[in-house]
Amino acid sequence: TKWDTKGDLDESKNLPIYQHKATLQQAVKDNSFLVVTGETGSGKTTQLPQYLKLTRNNGKIGITQPRRVAAITVAQRVSQEMHCSLGREVGYQVRFDDCTTQDTVVKYMTDGCLLREILADPVLSQYSVVILDEAHERSLNTDILLGLLKQTLSSPDKASKGRSVPLKVVVMSATLETDKLSVFLGGCPVFTIPGRTFPVTSKFSCAIGPKDTESSVYIKEVVKVALDVHTSEMAGDILVFLTGQSEIEKACDMLYEKAESIDYRYDVQDHKVEGLLILPLYGSMPTDQQKQIFQPPPPGIRKCVVATNIAATSLTINGIKYIVDSGFVKQLNHNSRVGMDILEVVPISKSEALQRAGRAGRTSAGKCFRIYSPAFWEKCMPEYTVPEIQRTSLTAVILTLKCLGVHDVIRFPYLDRPEERFILEALKQLYQCDAIDRRGKVTRLGELMVEFPLPPGLTRALLQAASLGCEDLLLPVAAMLSVENIFIRPGHPEKQKEADKKHRQLGVQAGSCNDFTMLLSVFEKCKASDAPSAWCKDNYIHWRALKSAFSVETQLREILLRLQKKRDFPMEKFDGNKSELFRRCLCTGYFTNVARRSVGKVFCTMDGHGSMVHIHPSSTLFDQEAQLDWVIFHDLLVTSRIYIRTVCPIRYDWVKDLLPKLHEVDVYELSSVARE
Ligand code: ADP
Ligand code: MG
Repeated sequence: TKWDTKGDLDESKNLPIYQHKATLQQAVKDNSFLVVTGETGSGKTTQLPQYLKLTRNNGKIGITQPRRVAAITVAQRVSQEMHCSLGREVGYQVRFDDCTTQDTVVKYMTDGCLLREILADPVLSQYSVVILDEAHERSLNTDILLGLLKQTLSSPDKASKGRSVPLKVVVMSATLETDKLSVFLGGCPVFTIPGRTFPVTSKFSCAIGPKDTESSVYIKEVVKVALDVHTSEMAGDILVFLTGQSEIEKACDMLYEKAESIDYRYDVQDHKVEGLLILPLYGSMPTDQQKQIFQPPPPGIRKCVVATNIAATSLTINGIKYIVDSGFVKQLNHNSRVGMDILEVVPISKSEALQRAGRAGRTSAGKCFRIYSPAFWEKCMPEYTVPEIQRTSLTAVILTLKCLGVHDVIRFPYLDRPEERFILEALKQLYQCDAIDRRGKVTRLGELMVEFPLPPGLTRALLQAASLGCEDLLLPVAAMLSVENIFIRPGHPEKQKEADKKHRQLGVQAGSCNDFTMLLSVFEKCKASDAPSAWCKDNYIHWRALKSAFSVETQLREILLRLQKKRDFPMEKFDGNKSELFRRCLCTGYFTNVARRSVGKVFCTMDGHGSMVHIHPSSTLFDQEAQLDWVIFHDLLVTSRIYIRTVCPIRYDWVKDLLPKLHEVDVYELSSVARE
């Protein structure tokens, strides 16, 4: 199907925001801060930047999004509306993917990218307007940006330093919490785009009760309900809300199985189940597939989009009349039992459920099918979603704040204050990886670390490797850990067995058997291959993920080279074999994730939490536990058990001197800069 570009693009004049163009232009001119709200789909994200570009021609318009897919997709759309090729007048930047040029005036980016730009240029001198979009989402980075911009603009000498015209900040939010935002920003005006929505009738079902949190249960159920809707409801497209990439792929697999089975990961084509066009939508999808989402289906065909929460507010798909709501979302939460952030599947909040349902009533009356019971709604779903800043690790943003000269991280203007123990925990972790000193001041190493868009522990290991001249071992590993799902594990049992076998073979070929060398080996093997995509397919590896790992590795290498040129980089010497060198570098960053085998297959973590953990079945070390004593690991997976993933055996000697750091930290002294 081809774009019906002409008719479609003219639509922008029919969007609710269009009538308020001049008023909005004036409001931005008159105010430092402006809050803009309106129903999702009213045109805020795609139109407002274009309006402001016309009046404020002295600099770029920057628009932040909490999600990378949203930044990319919207930039694509707007570049079409403005009849320019993507990356010229309109561009985007997300972590590890910069699609902008000198000509770019409208720049969509993730909130994390803008935070990095502030590090390099605190007054954002290149921008005339900064738009913080999706503020209701309350992502950690957007919350921090709100506080930083509030601080900058409220001190006049700071705000105008190095700028010819004052910076304007627009905060956009779906209808929630706009008063709170306005009060936080000193009582700035709130502009509401009026718009109508149509009624949506919601139905509960009894399939999911308070105890059903197994993913297999809700995946099966959404598939069943979606097929029911398809066979029994009138025309109109379906939007299914699921939790993440693997669940979505499974659900799509199950839907395809109703007809012939086509594996959409390898071939991009239309997939129809007797008049049903099935389209997955999640964060790391290739963009050519994303485009299909917005195209109207061919006549007589019903579209069924199976999406993550991205379709709740960030992206609006026209033509949706039916919602199938799983009731779950994948969320990064700090788990106090194990003392780490863990990606978990949790029930959505009631306000989130209402937002999901609302997506069916944009152009006509719609229906929402909730696969959960009223008891689930009452007992399991909170009223509102807790802001990310109150439930995840603050380590990376606290380092950023400190590097920006915000030493008092406790009294920083937070829209919602995180608990002090979370701030102290972050300071402790920064101290443990040598990013700050005992008094809470940023060290030279900390200044280097902040330059890398990676988790602090991984950065620490990488910098250790660089100082020992073996960055070639760590750069590919860091890249592989920064992209999603390298290993394919098909849903089909036969194929699954074959994939597991192939992956085991790769492990054996990698020689020194641990999961980090496995990543390194896959990276190098594929890179050396003449036909990399065929090699991947043959070995059940995601070629697309690996391709982005190649690009990430190059970019990390560039950052490292830049730092090595700019500063006198610390260099040390090491005598020993390569495998030991590699693992010792890992220890420098991962000594906080050390576990020791206690009995049988059970390990015990050494970070003071003393959690009992198991090696995950995906590890090359699974079933070899008896031969292991001390290990480090990259992350945890919590189900009925706690699993450690990406594991590497180590010797106690290597961490002996580091382990005391886990316990002998005076958090009071660390926060002393903040208390002075
Ligand atoms: P808001 O930000 O207020 O939620 P948007 O500006 O995102 O609204 O959307 C306005 C309109 O643009 C919607 O009708 C949406 O379907 C359409 N739109 C947005 N992105 C695309 C795209 N990539 N392709 C086609 N239509 C799009
Ligand atoms: Mg929007």
